[in-house]
Amino acid sequence: MIRTLLDTLRTLLSVPHDNPRLLQAQYVALSRQLPLMYLILLLNMWALAITHLPTAPFWLTLVIPLLMTVICVLRARIWLRSARRLPADAQILASLRRTNQLVPFIAGAFTSWSLALYPYGDSYSQSQVAFFMGITVIVCIFCMMHLRPAALTTTLVVNVAFVIFFASTHNPAFIATAVNVLLVSLAMLIVLQHHYRDFTRLVNVQAQTEQLSNENLRLANQDSLTGLPNRRQFFTTLERAMSQAIAREKRLAVGILDLDGFKPVNDLYGHSVGDKILVMVGRRLLQLAGATVHVARLGGDEFALVLEDDLSDEELQAFGKILCEQLHVEFLLVDVPIQIGATLGIATFPQGATSAIQLFEYADYALYQGKRHNPGSMCLFSASHREQLHHDAITEQALRRAVLDKEFFVLFQPILESCSRETVAFEALARWNSPELGLVSPARFIPIAERIGLINRLTLPLLRQALDMARAWPEGIRLSFNLSVHDCGSHDSVQSIIDVINASGFNPAYLDLEITETVVMQDIPQVQWAIGQFRTLGCGISLDDFGTGYSSLSQLHALALTKLKIDRRFVTDIHVNPASYKIVKSLVALSLDMELECVIEGVETEDELKALRSLGCTQVQGFFFSRPVAFADTLAWLAQAEARRGQWDAEQMLNSA
Ligand code: C2E
Ligand code: MG
Ligand code: MG
Repeated sequence: MIRTLLDTLRTLLSVPHDNPRLLQAQYVALSRQLPLMYLILLLNMWALAITHLPTAPFWLTLVIPLLMTVICVLRARIWLRSARRLPADAQILASLRRTNQLVPFIAGAFTSWSLALYPYGDSYSQSQVAFFMGITVIVCIFCMMHLRPAALTTTLVVNVAFVIFFASTHNPAFIATAVNVLLVSLAMLIVLQHHYRDFTRLVNVQAQTEQLSNENLRLANQDSLTGLPNRRQFFTTLERAMSQAIAREKRLAVGILDLDGFKPVNDLYGHSVGDKILVMVGRRLLQLAGATVHVARLGGDEFALVLEDDLSDEELQAFGKILCEQLHVEFLLVDVPIQIGATLGIATFPQGATSAIQLFEYADYALYQGKRHNPGSMCLFSASHREQLHHDAITEQALRRAVLDKEFFVLFQPILESCSRETVAFEALARWNSPELGLVSPARFIPIAERIGLINRLTLPLLRQALDMARAWPEGIRLSFNLSVHDCGSHDSVQSIIDVINASGFNPAYLDLEITETVVMQDIPQVQWAIGQFRTLGCGISLDDFGTGYSSLSQLHALALTKLKIDRRFVTDIHVNPASYKIVKSLVALSLDMELECVIEGVETEDELKALRSLGCTQVQGFFFSRPVAFADTLAWLAQAEARRGQWDAEQMLNSA
């Protein structure tokens, strides 16, 4: 019982040390209030000392007050200084403990001094002593309210002495005053207790609120899957880095990284595996990044980097190379190792862009270019990209203003049987004759039309035109027509293509629709569905530019294809380049294995054709036979077929002789 009482008393009279936030709040409050307390204490003390000057001894009215003044001024100065800056938690605790330990001595000293003056004055002076003690202690308690042990000690030391002293004077007025002070002291103790409890609660609530808001801020700026900074945080970091780069005249680089082949992995193995890969990608990026590279996840399979290291183009190239290589290393997650890749676009300040947003847009453009032309590697935004971007903007404007039915038309390029040299089909290739820009290549306007959502409106009139013309060819000549990403992207667009085919009167059994590997990879289930619809109609489906994308055999098997078109990059110089030869050979073998027809694109020379023919009979297409020509020329081309074959047979005979 006594032990618990002593423990409670010890708790009440010592500084709490387990709540740093409370200590900080107490420290701040005291540093504001204690200098004021010392000022009032000194003024009241000197008022009492001066009124006692004529009667009391010199050491009581001058020496002790001077000593007390020095102590009080020193303490007040310490608190005044501490108001400027918050020290470390340990220092705060030490400082509060020191104050707490000093309080009984200072309170005791003032109490003893004022009571020592009591015998030297008349009744007025004695009343002044009582008043000085009674009123000054209230100020002191108020000023020290935030440090409960100090306020309690002051109350106990001063008021207990006061009550005992004045109650024993046998003077009814002073006894009554002692009773008053006793009651006031009790009330003060209750108020002090309530105030301190409220103060502690407020500090704790504030701490919790702050913690919660910090947590919210962290969550709002963090990607929940990878734990990396998210898009919002990325832009905050970028803006800050940009301001610093401008101020210090330093170089800044921004990289945007997009995973290659991630979507098929997600579709094949499920989202949980996809999520784990994203987490592992985040980890690999952090390992490579170092302290001055900020990594963020923008969303989906897109990550971003802010590189503050003042790196040269060569250093950026080297960094990008390592990064892409590392992300190409297999991920060991399920029974089979999973391999994806990454393309990185980088833009720099001040050489490339002049603002944070522009820097991001340029990096995005570099990524787009990298994805199109060199997936799996790093692409640095260059002066030619800037020109191209400008060019694209002009093309986009002209495209938006273009009269689709009038300005767009198709040319046809023949596709031949490599052994018999018989023309088996024509591929329709779009052309744009713009009044502002002249003749524009589809390689330039198709990607822009796709980006601005104009491609569906372009596909239908072109397809209508091509089918209409193809009806004039002799029975059996096929038509190949290129579709873009968005043509297969929705039920409506697929249906409108089917409607055009049905309305054309051309037999769909002689129509091949070409889709590129990149289209397929965008959304396999959707493309699978679209292909199913076209196949039901009787159309053939060719996989265009085969060998340039990331499709795997299992993905190809999932699609009801009828033809593979091997990209022309493998054909160039095939007769002198053994690597190209081997690639085409294996792609041809693959198409045979899959029971698909095979077209080899981009045959430009006799030598290339010879090399290809040694691989067996396939279909071929290229400038060696004919450039894309107008519809009228296709009729002439077909009419001259007999003559061409005769000439070719003669050449054959000459060669073999
Ligand atoms: P693609 O479907 O792979 O078409 C073949 C491209 O290679 C054509 O370029 C053709 O002119 C070119 N080419 C053919 N033989 C040779 C050769 O021996 N050497 C070289 N260097 N090039 C050859 P074009 O007409 O500029 O078309 C480029 C691409 O634009 C096409 O590639 C296709 O992806 C797209 N495209 C063309 N027309 C359309 C269309 O109507 N709709 C859609 N969505 N895309 C189209
Ligand atoms: Mg094509
Ligand atoms: Mg092609």
